[in-house]
Amino acid sequence: ATFQSLGLIEPLLQSLEKAGYKKPTDIQTEALPHALAGRDIIGVASTGSGKTAAFALPILQKLWEEPKGLFACVLAPTRELAYQISEQFEALGAAMGVRCAVIIGGVDTPTQAIALAKRPHIIVATPGRLVDHLENTKGFNLRGLKFLADRLLDVDDFGLSINKILKLIPKERTTYLFSATMSSKVEGLKRASLSNPVRVQV
Ligand code: AMP
Repeated sequence: ATFQSLGLIEPLLQSLEKAGYKKPTDIQTEALPHALAGRDIIGVASTGSGKTAAFALPILQKLWEEPKGLFACVLAPTRELAYQISEQFEALGAAMGVRCAVIIGGVDTPTQAIALAKRPHIIVATPGRLVDHLENTKGFNLRGLKFLADRLLDVDDFGLSINKILKLIPKERTTYLFSATMSSKVEGLKRASLSNPVRVQV
């Protein structure tokens, strides 16, 4: 498959070329058609297999089709992964002028509140600090959210924060859960937060 044959739009094809992504990885080839068709996805693939672009590309494509407000939230287990994910969104969304905010612990909260007030399209967040902003930052909410992407399953148990976040985002949304292993926790979360998901494993 090529990125073009999978149905990606021109601005993304341009960014992919600039980023040096010549052809889709296995997880991207498997996940993209379902994602572009609007399905929720549970994706399981090893570290370094291109999971981030597998969920970033469909989010960016839908953002291009319907550029409305705060569009997607990506939950990351660590600050480092949050920055890596945000960098890929910015690289792949470069031709679209996408705005990302990274919301993680250890960074000044008022500065983050200003970043949130600038209406980013994509928020990449660690769960604890995101809940902090949802509870304490005036004017900030996730009520218009269209996509939730979850990368938390590989690390610790974020159950409590996740449950709070799930209560504060629309039920009518698309959810992507990407993990390196298919554990029983993935099965549990599937019931909690995904709607009739397609399971993609490579
Ligand atoms: P990830 O598994 O999402 O952490 O991605 C691992 C690395 O592969 C990152 O540095 C990506 O920029 C890169 N990458 C992802 N998809 C592709 C692709 N289709 N072609 C080349 N590099 C890629």
